[in-house]
Amino acid sequence: MLEATNLFFNRAADHLELSDKLRTVLQTPRRVVRVEIVTESDEGEILHHLGYRVQHNTIRGPMKGGLRFHPSMDEDHAASLASLMTWKTAVVDIPYGGAKGGINCDPSKLSKAELHRITTTFVELIREIIGPTIDIPAPDVNTNGEIMAWIMDEYSKYYGFSPAVVTGKPVDLFGSLGREEATGRGVMYALEEYLKQDERTLADVSVAIQGFGNVGSHAARLIAERGGRIVAVSDISGGIANDKGIDVPALLTWIGENQVVQGFPGADQIDGAEVLTYKADVLIPAALEDAITADNAEQVQAEVVVEAANGPTTPDAHDILHRRDITVIPDILANAGGVTVSYFEWSQNIQQFRWELERVNQELERIMRRSYADVALLAKNNGLDLRTAAFVLAIKRVGKAAAARKSLGHLLPKSLLD
Ligand code: NAD
Repeated sequence: MLEATNLFFNRAADHLELSDKLRTVLQTPRRVVRVEIVTESDEGEILHHLGYRVQHNTIRGPMKGGLRFHPSMDEDHAASLASLMTWKTAVVDIPYGGAKGGINCDPSKLSKAELHRITTTFVELIREIIGPTIDIPAPDVNTNGEIMAWIMDEYSKYYGFSPAVVTGKPVDLFGSLGREEATGRGVMYALEEYLKQDERTLADVSVAIQGFGNVGSHAARLIAERGGRIVAVSDISGGIANDKGIDVPALLTWIGENQVVQGFPGADQIDGAEVLTYKADVLIPAALEDAITADNAEQVQAEVVVEAANGPTTPDAHDILHRRDITVIPDILANAGGVTVSYFEWSQNIQQFRWELERVNQELERIMRRSYADVALLAKNNGLDLRTAAFVLAIKRVGKAAAARKSLGHLLPKSLLD
């Protein structure tokens, strides 16, 4: 996965004519940490996991990025996702660098007590390298507000009351109103901006969504509330489709009772992979990386792919979609709503002042629409696709901050600073 992120980075670096040395400086993580997490199962057996935190860049502020609990979590994933966080926070111009981490565990096979022990042991092992002004974790795949609350609690045992050490906390425990749905809401704004070009709205399009967790389910609900027709949805259990439009509130109720989309009575059951190539105007991958590959990109029927997940499109697939005139709204723009409201949460924690939901959503909307416009303009003026343009914008912002902060301006190329 790191290879793909670096390849996309290098396309922007080519455009900016960056030297090999500068590329190495910008791509190399500042710190890579791996810890061994040894805990006890409920049955009294030894549980062994590896935890990771990769801290990519601090030029624009303290580092920020999610924690993923998934069997596939490893250093390569953490490094790739950490790098994406540096560029993402720069695209939306919030004052952070990038980090990412997680644990190579499968939460579906762990009891809550086991998950709690694993999480708090992880915090004990990485507590010296995280903190409200150093590195602020947040939820990602298979982590949620409850786990963020455990992290805050464990960290606060060592350092005193520290709500700003993590974001995505429950609203009852210093979380921000609007954080849980923020990534999905941001995806919706990005899609609205794309449709605006042809004076269309969400009510004019059909949408297929892969992944129905935090991001996918909120994106589906918000798009459907504005008249969008959600025609296909998948999760780990399989896919469902209904060309007349899936009743999203009914599906959410179904999931509340049955956990997975499979079996939902208001739609046909289809293969999970079919959702990616389903006949819909919009495709939203909102699960894991490498969903759209050279194997299925030719069959994608959507006119636009909104990358709600991180790294869902491989470079080969990106090029196939580009050749087929399918627009890709890249992850570092499309899913930046989550980290944006995490920034609001962190600011609220530091000020100990809660914002109203209306203010959170207004500020998020402003940042997402402005960021889309910035990227789209740069793409248009330079004949670039949206992904390369987003990377160019981000690299320039990091370059300008480095020049100002480290007095490095005389060593950096003009292309980075104009
Ligand atoms: P989540 O754990 O809440 O949900 C993941 C969903 O993907 C689940 O519905 C799961 O069943 C589904 N899934 C997993 N494997 C699948 C497969 N092979 N086919 C179809 N569905 C599959 O995770 P999330 O927080 O919604 O994150 C989803 C993606 O969005 C990730 O790439 C994550 O990095 C990215 N993201 C999340 C946030 C956030 O705020 N949570 C912010 C930015 C980006």
